[in-house]
Amino acid sequence: MHKPQLLTILGATGSIGVSTLDVVARHPDRYRVLALTAHGQLDRLVEQCIVHRPRYAVLAEPARLPELASRLAAAGCGEIETLAGIEALEYVACLPEVDAVMAAIVGAAGMRPTLAAARAGKRILLANKETLVMAGQLFMDAARDGGATLLPIDSEHNAIYQCLPQPFSDAAEQGVRRILLTASGGPFRRFSQAELATVTPAQAVKHPNWSMGRKISVDSASLMNKGLEVIEARWLFDLAPERIKVVVHPQSVIHSMVEYVDGSVLAQLGNPDMRTPIAYGLAWPERIEAGVAPLDLFDIAQLNFEAPDLDRFPCLALAFEALQLGGAAPAVLNAANEVAVDAFLAGELDFVGIARVNAATLRGLARDFDAASLESLTAADAAARQMARSLLRLAV
Ligand code: NAD
Ligand code: MG
Repeated sequence: MHKPQLLTILGATGSIGVSTLDVVARHPDRYRVLALTAHGQLDRLVEQCIVHRPRYAVLAEPARLPELASRLAAAGCGEIETLAGIEALEYVACLPEVDAVMAAIVGAAGMRPTLAAARAGKRILLANKETLVMAGQLFMDAARDGGATLLPIDSEHNAIYQCLPQPFSDAAEQGVRRILLTASGGPFRRFSQAELATVTPAQAVKHPNWSMGRKISVDSASLMNKGLEVIEARWLFDLAPERIKVVVHPQSVIHSMVEYVDGSVLAQLGNPDMRTPIAYGLAWPERIEAGVAPLDLFDIAQLNFEAPDLDRFPCLALAFEALQLGGAAPAVLNAANEVAVDAFLAGELDFVGIARVNAATLRGLARDFDAASLESLTAADAAARQMARSLLRLAV
């Protein structure tokens, strides 16, 4: 019998947060929720508190804290401590009694609490890829120095983790030639340049295979998500960019592969359901039931592969360019992209404009900041947001 692991779920009300709580609820003997955090979706947070009875409920911003406290009290959950703000997010990510932290806040906003969990030596289930994109070296150093255990939740990185030799330390020494990062190609895989110029936010958030939050859905449609994942893989597995190859695989059944020097290629397959990598991260090195339907290969029948088209999807090439530029360039790209995606979702920028804003911001600022400190990365992030916003105004 296990002693239940105590969990903090950062971004509990999002797509990954909800899937995490689904897996957790299947194993009440193994997991207990200590803290849930959210930004905005108060109704959902209150519902989650009623079901999971955490000790802490945390909001990213203080404005609605009194409302949260009174609604919890009215629901018979008055004993739950309510907190707000970035320090509170960091606090619940570092509590001494916390065994594992699910890092599932979307965007750069997730960086500080995830970094705090790394410094505190937690087991981190890492969904928030933007932390690694912004602060890869800093974050990996903090995890190593803090003694944290990193378990990738992004489905591709989770697949790669499962296919790598364990313990994994060095690609060349352990016979890894390269990793093959699969991409569905998104909803616009077959769209012409002219068609891409007219796509709407509603079309972009409708991913063919995965159900996800709005930001990552748009990133998947532009292939920026795959670019962010290339950067994520570079840091997680300490791989030179030329050892990372992107393969478009429209069925999203193979979640990624590892190619070895002897010609072997190991793949991890499964239905496109994030509860598989989440359950893997929760239970590692054991395996638990995740509520995911078994893979029916006869039903799938075919697995296809093609090369990504960098002309129609330039955001993927921008990620390799950012890695080449080094320093804070990936943080600049990430911040520009967050601004551009928000503008696209608000109807202020067309879809192909996302790549234009990202490219101009990256090339304009990449060399101005280093990646040696959080201060420098935060300054790069702020400058990139400002530049991207001014580019938006120019485009109107
Ligand atoms: P989502 O938009 O559904 O949820 C985001 C969560 O973060 C919500 O709980 C929201 O309240 C919280 N949040 C938003 N802004 C915040 C802020 N400023 N401060 C604090 N909290 C804030 O997003 P998602 O799809 O669950 O994705 C979460 C992360 O996981 C992203 O980094 C994404 O790239 C990554 N990821 C998601 C999937 C997926 O299938 N959804 C797959 C792989 C990786
Ligand atoms: Mg992914």
